[in-house]
Amino acid sequence: MFAIPYLIGGIVAATEDGIINKIHVLSKGGGMSSYSKRQFVRIISVGIIAALMLSPSAWAWGRIGHRVAAEMAESRLSPRALAVIHELLGPGVSLSDISTWADEHRNPSSGAWHYVDVPITESRYDPKYCLSKGCVVSKIADFRRILIDRRADKFKKQEALKYLVHFIEDLHQPLHVADNNDRGGNQTQVRFFNRGSNLHRLWDSQLIENKSHNEQDWLRDINSLATSQNVSQWSKGTPEDWAAESLQIAKKAYCLPGTNTVMPSGTKLDDNYCRMALPIIQTQLAKAAIRVAATLNEIFR
Ligand SMILES: [Zn+2]
Repeated sequence: MFAIPYLIGGIVAATEDGIINKIHVLSKGGGMSSYSKRQFVRIISVGIIAALMLSPSAWAWGRIGHRVAAEMAESRLSPRALAVIHELLGPGVSLSDISTWADEHRNPSSGAWHYVDVPITESRYDPKYCLSKGCVVSKIADFRRILIDRRADKFKKQEALKYLVHFIEDLHQPLHVADNNDRGGNQTQVRFFNRGSNLHRLWDSQLIENKSHNEQDWLRDINSLATSQNVSQWSKGTPEDWAAESLQIAKKAYCLPGTNTVMPSGTKLDDNYCRMALPIIQTQLAKAAIRVAATLNEIFR
């Protein structure tokens, strides 16, 4: 959601070195700078790359996390839900294919829908932390309502389905629910295997990618958690309950492994932290999958 300011920043910064004519750009000082087409394209590319690198939550749960949870969810749909969903999405489009759409189509009004900032000192999720423009918890309810509304048109339902799947998954990323006055971990800088990162990005994607980039490996691991006992337990509850659960888990994410000490910015994290975090991530992805399936089976029963 911060991509646009960074992009502008990237372009403005890039205008400060070389200058050739044909394309005119407003420079930092307010004057006009001129560029050749090729230079302009290069500047825009640099800006976009910078924006993607700096954008703190460009890929909530990352691509792998969203896709594998949605794939597992799809395998657990009832024949009726599967038929309605395929009718909505069109031939050959899977839940996994649409699971990252909401991150790819973020805009200023939908940016806040992907998370809710509940202070880690709280013991439960409270709706007072949901902003008036909506948050991940309220939007799940909104899009569920559209999907059960007989009068809603196909396009609206299609969009609601894409958001619903994505937001149930986002809700299971602990740092999409908890906050320590650091924008959900985005402002807690860490050294992950000696490379600069931040706590939010670590939980979105880096811990997942550090283990494996292979979606089938991840799918196998999270599917193995779907015992009948887990499924019956995890299918229960409301998005508010799931948010409260994520909040509790985030307290661990914020602490140095094996302690109750909140990590200061600049903390070095390595295998020790991965060993604590990976089982949590696997469980959260499996829960998300089971709850996406349970929600859709209930909507399209
Ligand atoms: Zn998201």
